[in-house]
This record gives sequence, C-alpha cells and structure tokens, in this order.
Amino acid sequence: MSDDLREKLRASGHRLTPQRELILDAVDTLGHATPDEVLAEVRKKSSALNVSTVYRTLEVLEQLGLVRHAHLSDRAPTYHSVRDHEHFHLVCRNCHKVISVDPDMVARLAARLREEHGFVLDVGHLAVFGTCVECEPLEETDA
Ligand SMILES: [Zn+2]
Ligand SMILES: [Zn+2]
Repeated sequence: MSDDLREKLRASGHRLTPQRELILDAVDTLGHATPDEVLAEVRKKSSALNVSTVYRTLEVLEQLGLVRHAHLSDRAPTYHSVRDHEHFHLVCRNCHKVISVDPDMVARLAARLREEHGFVLDVGHLAVFGTCVECEPLEETDA
C-alpha cells in the first residue's frame, strides 16, 4: 500500500484496518480472485476471518475505490486490485483462463457508444467470453 493511497483514504475519513489491508493484499497477490479464493489466501496468515467477513470487506474496499469486481463466472464476482493498470477481461469458457486487456482495445467502441447512445462504458467491469488460443488453435490453411 502506497503512502499516497493511505493519505488519500485518511483525508476522505476512511481507515484501512489491518483486516482490510490483509484482504487487499490477498487480492493483489492473486490478481483475480473470488471471495472464496481470497479467504483461502488470507487464512494462510489469519484464521480469524470467515467468508462473510471477506464478502463484506471486499464490498467496503470497492466502495473505497481500492478494488473492482467483474463477473467472470456465473458464480461469485471476481475481484481485482485497482493498483494494476485499468483493464478489461477476456474469459475462456473452456479453461477459465482470464486475460487482462488494455482498454485501448475497446476505445473506439467506447467512443461510439458515447456518441451514438450517450452511454458511458465501465471498462473495468467488462468481461468478454470466448475461447482462448490454446483451446481453439487457429485453423490450419490448406497449402
Ligand atoms: Zn481484472
Ligand atoms: Zn482456454
């Protein structure tokens, strides 16, 4: 956690308790993680936490702007740290791999949605489902 971020939180009247910091660190370590995965990670350091605490804390961290969530499966939301560069997600339906992609890739789509529909795309929440290159090798062309 950077001093900068701590300072910003303090200025806005929020506190990063040790418990919140533990959970934030777990999200950072894991990259993309469901609440259950976060719980398994924090349990390595503290057995005092249960899954409902993790759910609540993740919601608080999101309100504080420290994590984001996206829906990468039909189960619980997946959280990621905002310390990473902003990104959206490609999710392979076959192997469930999550690939982070630069928002530049959808910049034209975002611009058109804004111009033609007055709609502001929430890129960090975006997940695109399909098949990754390992699961769907490029077709070989007849030579
Ligand atoms: Zn992400
Ligand atoms: Zn795959």
